[in-house]
Amino acid sequence: GVTDPAAAARAVRAGDRRALARAVTLVESARADHREAAEALLAELAAAPAGADTLRIAVSGAPGVGKSTFVEAFGLHLLERGRRLAVLAIDPSSARSGGAVLGDKTRMAELARAEAAFVRPSPSGGASGGVARGARDAVLLCEAAGFDTVIVETVGAGQSEIAARDLADMVVLLVAPGGGDELQGIKRGVVEVADLVVATKEDGAFADRARRTCADYAAALRLMRPATPGWTPRALSCSALERRGLDAVREAVEAFAAATAETAAARRAEQAVAWMRAELRAALEQRLRAAPAVSARLESLERRVASGALPPAAAARALVAAFLDGAG
Ligand code: GDP
Repeated sequence: GVTDPAAAARAVRAGDRRALARAVTLVESARADHREAAEALLAELAAAPAGADTLRIAVSGAPGVGKSTFVEAFGLHLLERGRRLAVLAIDPSSARSGGAVLGDKTRMAELARAEAAFVRPSPSGGASGGVARGARDAVLLCEAAGFDTVIVETVGAGQSEIAARDLADMVVLLVAPGGGDELQGIKRGVVEVADLVVATKEDGAFADRARRTCADYAAALRLMRPATPGWTPRALSCSALERRGLDAVREAVEAFAAATAETAAARRAEQAVAWMRAELRAALEQRLRAAPAVSARLESLERRVASGALPPAAAARALVAAFLDGAG
């Protein structure tokens, strides 16, 4: 059953974990009645927004780079410093594989047991736009529940990191210790959005390579435009396994927060408006595709565009016209 939004909002604000978990499930759902309930709940919470002094950190990197291990170790380190931490995940693969990447393992067991932490397993699925929207809303819910730090872990290279940039204050990119030539293969778009690059597994047989990878990224970052105005991106290395180097990562995160404090609110405002525009595009397209006048013609027009018989812009205009005629 769908609960009373005011009661749900009160329970989330009181820090009730089960209410928070239920609310996150609600905002991740694509079901129309769930969307409606989620929006009512978010509207209740927006009436007295929390989170002006929170920090939203995206942690991204390729599978196997050590994200889960790092987030657990770094998260415990933050808890020792008195922070209250929520960990969320954007897992675009869950839409396809049913959550195989994150969902099948018990994630961050030690962190999940901690009183001052909330660890959310992978999103329940849906279209990848839906997953990103769920994560955005979930960030707001966690902040309303009193968590001052939210880490959004993103899986997979490319799009999910770019999506993370749009909902985080700071992007931390994890990179694996490599042989030295993988910088060639850097997905530039991903490094360009990073505020901090952390080479993982700086221990044992990997230690030297991790330090070299760190130096390589530091050099590469110097050639790039800063992702966030007022902050010069840094590269560090650490061992989450041996829990070393985490102090330096935390100091960098704190330095970032201090350096960007004056612009943080404006950046979040921009993100919120961009989010609204994305929702508007998605909602319009959904309505458009669902309209009989459009769905009846969509396939044949796409075929004609594919064969070159019709210019794409003309086909798009014809569909919009059919939609507006149908709606009028
Ligand atoms: P994810 O897929 O990015 O979440 O990566 P995981 O955190 O699951 O780690 C992938 C593998 O790397 C696992 O076998 C970890 O034990 C290992 N790993 C993670 N962090 C470290 C580290 O700091 N040092 C070493 N030596 N191995 C690590």
